[in-house]
Amino acid sequence: MVLPVQSSFYGSYTPVGDLVTIAVCFVILILLFCSFIKRTRSFRIFLMIVGLLLVSAYANVTYNTLLERWDPSLYFWVSALRVLFHGALFAIFFLFTQYIAEVTSLERRAALWVTFIAGVLFVAVVALDIIDSLNHTFGFRIDPDGTVHTGMNIFYVGYFAFVILIAALLVRVRNYLFSRVMFGFFCTIVLAIGLNLLQLLVKQSSFTVSSFMLPVFAMLYIMHSNPYNAKLGTVDISALEDMVRFEYSHKRPFGFLSLYLPAFAEEHAEMPSAIQSAVRKFSSSFFRGAVVFSVGPGHMLLIYDKQRNPNYEERITRILEAFHAQHARFRNDYKIVIGDSVDRISARNDYVHLIRTVLRDMKENTIHRIEEKDFAAYNRQEYILKELVDIYHHRNLNDSRVLVYCQPVYNIALRRYDTAEALMRLDLPETGIIFPDEFIPLAEKNGYIHVLTEIILNKTCREARRLAEEGYSFSRISVNVSAQELKGTYFCRDISQIIRNADLPGDRVALELTESQDESDFLVMEEKIRELKSMGITFYLDDFGTGYSSLERIMQLPFDIIKFDRSLVVASGASDKSEQIVRNMARLFAEMDFSVLYEGVETEKDEKRCVGMSASYLQGYKYSRPVPISGLRDFFTRAA
Ligand code: C2E
Ligand code: CA
Ligand code: CA
Repeated sequence: MVLPVQSSFYGSYTPVGDLVTIAVCFVILILLFCSFIKRTRSFRIFLMIVGLLLVSAYANVTYNTLLERWDPSLYFWVSALRVLFHGALFAIFFLFTQYIAEVTSLERRAALWVTFIAGVLFVAVVALDIIDSLNHTFGFRIDPDGTVHTGMNIFYVGYFAFVILIAALLVRVRNYLFSRVMFGFFCTIVLAIGLNLLQLLVKQSSFTVSSFMLPVFAMLYIMHSNPYNAKLGTVDISALEDMVRFEYSHKRPFGFLSLYLPAFAEEHAEMPSAIQSAVRKFSSSFFRGAVVFSVGPGHMLLIYDKQRNPNYEERITRILEAFHAQHARFRNDYKIVIGDSVDRISARNDYVHLIRTVLRDMKENTIHRIEEKDFAAYNRQEYILKELVDIYHHRNLNDSRVLVYCQPVYNIALRRYDTAEALMRLDLPETGIIFPDEFIPLAEKNGYIHVLTEIILNKTCREARRLAEEGYSFSRISVNVSAQELKGTYFCRDISQIIRNADLPGDRVALELTESQDESDFLVMEEKIRELKSMGITFYLDDFGTGYSSLERIMQLPFDIIKFDRSLVVASGASDKSEQIVRNMARLFAEMDFSVLYEGVETEKDEKRCVGMSASYLQGYKYSRPVPISGLRDFFTRAA
């Protein structure tokens, strides 16, 4: 490599590069100040790098200015500035290594080695630079006319030593970062080195500091830009945890306001731009330094620092007044939750959960302030979740915490109860019996539902076999399956294994599924139903009439029984027109050889109406509430 190590001068200098660097650093600082950035350790390193760039650029400009007015009495200052200029750049190199180790979460031992080697290198090159300035050991001196002799330029020795170290480090961590990100960093570093080589070749020295800007841009863009939703003025939810962690560790109390608009809660529901601009105003107009996070579709969370907003109660009143004024315009349903930071929620970084627990029990168009009893509800949810995790990990198919209740189903043709639906309850040490609406959504969301299904299926199969052995006559008992678990790779294997292990013929079991709108789900569903049907299992379509049903699709699926949801039973009783629709749909199914089951039959009138609407089966409180599965003995008939 042709390096002008022995060159007797730095090359010509114009302050352009350094002045631009200084300006850009200020721009970066201003941008960072105006936006919300996760205050991670890597971000602090990044800030130090920007600070050192400023120091280095200033030192270089001043150094060259003094050289222009050269006078031997300035030697101390000139060489000190030169050491400062070099030292700051080496410190940046050192921080680059720390930064890479931090963002790639390099393991401790390796990180310590990196720090050690980079630290030694830093101290060595700075010390040599100082020695060179004092004793001219490596040939640095300044002629009386101001000509600089760099001798064996210590700066470039250090520069390339650090470049080699960083290159080695990048090779070491290449698999830790997403490859495109790696490539981005890599390109900026190659360009920076290229720029430096180029200026050496053309005997220039104006762009040394500015070349360090290139990786800094990559860091800013890739690691420290939080995607703002420019239309709403909100920040991505991933930044929320960082904000909470920061406020908590600095013991800064904060308050929050959550706005939930159910109309936009669907994944792809687009907010009209007028509402977006209203939200944008709320983000910035009422609290100093507030940040608004998008925590879910149609759900925004504003967080404000209490110390920066001492009169926050007044501000809350004002923002609510403004909100009501907007609501009068848009008339969208809403739920607002207001609260304050609490150590135990901050420690778990769990405000979104807390708020969701509260939202679940709120009426639309109400405002709720978090109070003690909300924490109780939240704790209850956490407790249930903890138990679910435990049930999941034990995967004990006889887990005593899972109870099987059953609701008998009346067969109109046979005039007796000959089937039943298994309904799950949990019996937990601290809560007693709890109902599905409380734990099924939790289990589904966290991926524990399949184990619950396995347990309830196993218990149902074993009790069914006992009933059969005791001489009770019944056709089958149905078990509910969640749409989500059906997609699991081993679903069919797990189900068939449990039925086989219980030594029960497959036709004594049925599975209840709900329909899905997804085309790919539909295909998976069809495939799995057909596979299990070959074992003799019966299939029920659950909750017909609650989703966006496509009759055409349903009729393509190999279901045996269509369960008309209670809402259809209720609707058919409310108007003649609805009754006609339900009646015609039921007739259509019956003509296509599906059996129709009405759910939620509560009264004599319900019963009569359903019987007149192509019903084969009836289920509801009119006959029985769900009872523990052993109670089915009171409903099934026993052969004499
Ligand atoms: P579902 O499958 O539609 O079950 C029927 C629900 O309606 C049961 O509520 C039942 O107690 C209730 N019900 C029965 N007759 C009447 C009536 O005449 N009137 C009214 N208003 N309601 C009636 P439950 O047991 O609370 O279960 C609620 C839901 O939880 C079930 O709805 C089902 O979606 C889910 N679920 C229950 N057990 C399981 C299970 O083992 N696995 C899965 N994945 N989901 C389950
Ligand atoms: Ca069901
Ligand atoms: Ca149902």
